[in-house]
Amino acid sequence: MIVIKSREEIELMRESALIVSKTLGMLAKEVQPGVTTLQLDTLAEAFIRDHGAIPGFLGLYDFPNTLCMSPNAQVVHGIPNNTPLEEGDIISIDCGALKNEYYGDHAYTFAVGEIDPEITKLLDITKASLYRGIEQLKIGNRVGDVGHAIQKFSEDAGYGVVRELVGHGLGKKMHEDPEMPNYGRRGKGKKLLEGMVVAIEPMTNMGTHRIKQLRDGWTILTADGKPSAHFEHDVAIVDGKPEILSTFKYINKALGIETDEEDAFRKELLVI
Ligand code: MG
Ligand code: MG
Repeated sequence: MIVIKSREEIELMRESALIVSKTLGMLAKEVQPGVTTLQLDTLAEAFIRDHGAIPGFLGLYDFPNTLCMSPNAQVVHGIPNNTPLEEGDIISIDCGALKNEYYGDHAYTFAVGEIDPEITKLLDITKASLYRGIEQLKIGNRVGDVGHAIQKFSEDAGYGVVRELVGHGLGKKMHEDPEMPNYGRRGKGKKLLEGMVVAIEPMTNMGTHRIKQLRDGWTILTADGKPSAHFEHDVAIVDGKPEILSTFKYINKALGIETDEEDAFRKELLVI
């Protein structure tokens, strides 16, 4: 069942999403060679609690930490550990926060120092595919239109789009209906509705779309050991159009990236 949100609820969800955005922005400066994913996890938990929220993943389905930390060939759901990040790594950080009974859920793949230009392209294409999907999130379209746009953009670049893990409705539960696959067919699937809030989150592999899971029961990695990227935004359908509730602006500010790709999806420009 799809739970439709009122304007008031969407504003509360924006607050939860922005706490996650600020957390990722704080982490952007800390992602450096030598830091461990567990150190970053500890920083994130303290930051979220200092902002009056609760880590959204900690304890959810018994996940042991605040952040899902998935380096290099790990796709999603990696568990923070004591292994230091190295120059040339990439690290996908997925973070959730719960405030006022609503979840935010938001992810970004960071470069650790200088990375191979081929991997930079994987990150750029995956992020761009997220916006290709978001632009389809409007009244008159269906779930398959969003997935099709993401899939086509990434596959045209020669990448593999993960099938087994998907985006989702978001609200008082971390995972609500509908499922939002990053693949699909135009005009197929459930109708998109005013007041829906969804997490759109392409997971894109440099090689095969196939994945495997580690024996820890959590970590998903690419079947061929090639790198994978993951970007996620929380998006509401307001006045028939997509409105992004989360933002990468804190990350962009920390990293000195000038970009306005989100601004097309906001009623008012977000001043950070
Ligand atoms: Mg997430
Ligand atoms: Mg999600």
